[in-house]
Amino acid sequence: MAAPTTCPVCLVAVGGLEELAAHLVAEAEASEGRHVMWLNRHATKYRMSPSELALLLAAALAGEGSGADRVQR
Ligand SMILES: [Zn+2]
Repeated sequence: MAAPTTCPVCLVAVGGLEELAAHLVAEAEASEGRHVMWLNRHATKYRMSPSELALLLAAALAGEGSGADRVQR
């Protein structure tokens, strides 16, 4: 998987997975609705640290575009 270069929500430039995770956590803690919804849908409903979230994001972004239709194995 290529490292993310933009936030999937607001398309702000980020310097990779860790930076994207830090950005998403910061926006979610500021109760920014679109980021909270994206996290709920793609990663977690629970508050977590950027380093924990980065691991979930790697999996979420690998399946991006398929969402709930993702093939279950
Ligand atoms: Zn964003």
